[in-house]
Parts: sequence; structure tokens; C-alpha cells
Amino acid sequence: MSIETGIQLPAPSLRIGAQELLDGESTHEHIDPATGKVNGLVPMASTAQVDQAVQAAHEAFLAWRALPAGQRARKLMKLAELMEENTELLAAAGMADNGAPRITAGNMVGAAVEWTRYYAGWADKLPLGRITSNGGAGGSFGHTLRQPYGVIGAIITWNAPLMSLAMKVPAALAAGNTVVIKPSELTPFTPTVFADLAREAGIPDGVINIVPGGPAAGAALVEHRLVKKVTFTGGPATAQAIAASCAKTFKPMILELGGKSANLVFEDADLDKAAGHAAFFSFGMMSGQACALPTRLLVQESVYEQFIEKVAAAAAQFPIGDPAGEYTMCGPVINQAAIDRIDSMLGAALEEGGRLVTGGQRLGGELAEGFYYPPTIVADVDPNGSLAQNEVFGPVLAVIPFRDEAHALQIANGTDYGLSGYIWTSDLGRGLRLAESMETGEIAVNGAFNATAERPFGGIGHSGIGNEGGLEGLEEFFWTKSVGIATR
Ligand code: NAD
Repeated sequence: MSIETGIQLPAPSLRIGAQELLDGESTHEHIDPATGKVNGLVPMASTAQVDQAVQAAHEAFLAWRALPAGQRARKLMKLAELMEENTELLAAAGMADNGAPRITAGNMVGAAVEWTRYYAGWADKLPLGRITSNGGAGGSFGHTLRQPYGVIGAIITWNAPLMSLAMKVPAALAAGNTVVIKPSELTPFTPTVFADLAREAGIPDGVINIVPGGPAAGAALVEHRLVKKVTFTGGPATAQAIAASCAKTFKPMILELGGKSANLVFEDADLDKAAGHAAFFSFGMMSGQACALPTRLLVQESVYEQFIEKVAAAAAQFPIGDPAGEYTMCGPVINQAAIDRIDSMLGAALEEGGRLVTGGQRLGGELAEGFYYPPTIVADVDPNGSLAQNEVFGPVLAVIPFRDEAHALQIANGTDYGLSGYIWTSDLGRGLRLAESMETGEIAVNGAFNATAERPFGGIGHSGIGNEGGLEGLEEFFWTKSVGIATR
């Protein structure tokens, strides 16, 4: 079942300098996750095309870097404006790409506009350098310069392509770099629309290049000697391959990876608010397919059963179905492979002693042709078991009881990941203590929302290296040079 959005999307293409190419070395059939049917053909870039794209970015670099900062700022600001004006088009692309519900896809456009605008604002206010010594006793005048790298290789995944583009490209461009983007072949529409809008905004040919493809194209981009830094969003296994490749030439990289973020609910919390939040972020919005979601729910024993019931009741209210539906909150997962992975991880969790509270089986009936999985709650999960330790990337919530603050902290810090942490308590002192003690890149107390452009976002451990967002996200795209001038 699918409700057409009625919006014509451009055919997926490669963008190499001024060229727009509909042919790669092969073609990938894009499957609409809502219907299971082919809804587009994706040209897959060859290694030679990746090389051409890098050459185009390399050739565009010096002119882009030399452009007066105010002009770079205006072009990026114009891109933000065009994205906002084309909200319906970008949202339609998002729905077609990965089955994001209309509400989610629309909200993402709003967020992507803000990220683009934020970094456009930095472009002519760059913290480019500072005086480190002014001559005098040492006999030299010293200053540090921050310099753009050149070509940035950006590899993104399929779960939120517009957000990934907005978190990487404007910051890289504001700093004076050019980019070659390798999107996932699973989400070709959004990058194509983004490239069209960038051109309309006056961003010169070659500054943004796009080479859709699979692992081979990604690997070719990472290895290319003219790619000076890699920024990657995806899973830890791919990140290891990228890190190994970068290690050969000591190429720097930003890695934005997965998570198994703990959500700590204490007995003194506003339980209704916490339950609504847990349900929405675990099942609604992106059907569990986002890195920072609170997928490990740790609940104090005294309110354990009561809280699980509240989360299940909230999730039962979510309309599931066609992404284009006006009220749909839960869309499909990305493909059959995701359904198989969810089934297999759920089966293992139940064998390990987990208790199925709700969900647990792919939806049939009129949704049978799409890849729909219902909100699924597994209680009594072993903190060291497979469901507590591994990311599912689907609408499956692992629930674990805890006794007190120390016990909660021990469980929370007991995975290899370190992306996000969530705390629900009316004791602000406890909130602050835990915010300091939890080993993650971000903390949200009582439902605070951190994923805004001005705040750094990034993980530690298996969740990654480096940041996107804020000044930290901008600084990733500079290298530092120390200059000394003899004064005597
Ligand atoms: P993945 O690692 O399989 O693929 C990501 C991208 O890497 C794709 O474009 C893919 O084609 C490319 N790729 C694959 N092999 C490659 C190689 N050898 N060299 C270079 N590129 C290669 O990612 P996935 O599993 O499909 O994505 C889901 C993961 O992404 C989850 O773990 C999720 O948590 C993570 N994610 C993280 C963030 C974040 O900001 N931290 C955001 C979204 C998703």
C-alpha cells in the first residue's frame, strides 16, 4: 500500500564537476520500503568515476578557498533558503528514499536547513588563527593558521541522508574545503535534490560532487591520495575498514557510528513524560533506525513493571503504515535484510531469557508487501546479553531493571558504545552526577534535545571519533599550521 506524494523526483545521477551522469558502471534497483517495489534506478559509480569526482573537487578547491568569505557565506545561506523553499520536494525525496514518515521527513528538512544556516553563518566569521607570540624576548613573531584540507571524502549511510549531508557538507565548505560525497545506493533521491539545490544556490561546479555506489566506490574514495580527510557515518565494521585504509597514509578521519544508548528512568521521574519519550524515540520517528536513540531502557525496580506498561501503551497509539500518510508515525524499516536481522536478534534475546512484552513479528495484511515491523519490547534483558550489547537498528527496545544509581551507572557504562545517554529524574544533583559519569558523547536529562547545529555531536569507543555540530564540528575541517617570523 502506498499513497503517492504526487511530487516528481529527479532521476538519481552522478555529479562530477559540471557533469550530471545517468550512467555508472552498473545500476542498482531502488526498492521502496513501503511497497517492496522498484521505484528508481541508481547509477553506481565506477572507481574511475570516483577518481574523476576527486579530480574535479581538487581542481575546484583553490578557487573556492580563495573566494571572499562573505561570498561563501552567501552561497551557503542561499542553499539553506532553497532547502527551506523546497521542503515538500526534499521531504518527498526522504520518503521515497527510506520510507521515513511524512512528519519525520518534514522535520528533518527543517533541521537540515538550520544546520546549513548555522555553518553558513560561520563562513565569514571563521576562527582562522591567533597570535601566539609577538616578538619580544624570543625574537620571533608567531601565529597559528587554520587551513582547509582540500578535498574531503564524505561517506554517508541511508537512515537520514539529508541530515548527514547537512551535518557534513556546509561545515566542510564553510571552512573552504570541497567535497566528494558517496551516498548509500539505498537512498539516491535526497543527494540528487541536494546537488540540484546547491547548483541553484551558485555553489560552483566541482565544489560538491556526488558518486552513489556501494562499498567499492566508498573504498576508492577513502584510498584516493587527493582526499585529505574522510568523514564517515555508518556502522563500526565499515569504520574499521576505513580506519585501516586511512592508517596507510595517516589520513585523518571523523567517524560517526552506532550506539546502544542507555535511558535511565528513576522512580522519582515524571514517568508519563519519560514513557512518551521512550516510545517515540524507540519506535516512532525512524522505526528505531537512528544512531543516538535510547534503545537500552534501564528502569528502577520499584517502577519497573508499571513503566514498561506505560511505554507499551504509548507505542500502541502510534499509527503504523504508509510513510506518506498524514498521521503516520511509524514507517517501514529499510529492507528485507533489516527484517531478517531484527528477527534473528530478537530470537537470540528470547533464547537468552528476555520476555517479549509486545510486537515481535513482521506486520502482514495490507502492509505485507512493505517492510513493516511493529514496536517490540523485550523485558528482563541480560545487561551482558546480545540485545543489550548490540545495536539492532530497528524498533526493538531492550528493558533492564536496576536497583540504585550506582547499579544503573554500572549497567549504562557496560557496552563498547558511547554515543548518547538519557536520564530521567527529579533530582538535579543526580542528573548532574550521572551526566559526568556516563561514558558517552552526549547526555540528555529529562527529555532535553541536543541534536541542534550549535552543539557538538559525536561518540567515543565504538561510537566513533570526532564531532559534527558546533565550533567543534567546524574545526574538524581545518588543519593547524604554526608560523614564526624572526624579528631580529
Ligand atoms: P554501513 O557501514 O554498512 O554503510 C555506510 C556507508 O559506508 C555506505 O554508504 C556504504 O556503501 C559505505 N561503505 C561500505 N563499505 C565500505 C568500505 N569498505 N569503504 C568505504 N565505504 C564503505 O552502515 P549501515 O550499517 O548501513 O548504517 C547504519 C549504521 O550507521 C548504524 O550503526 C548507525 O548507528 C550508524 N549511524 C551513525 C550516525 C551518527 O551520526 N553517529 C548517524 C546515522 C547512522
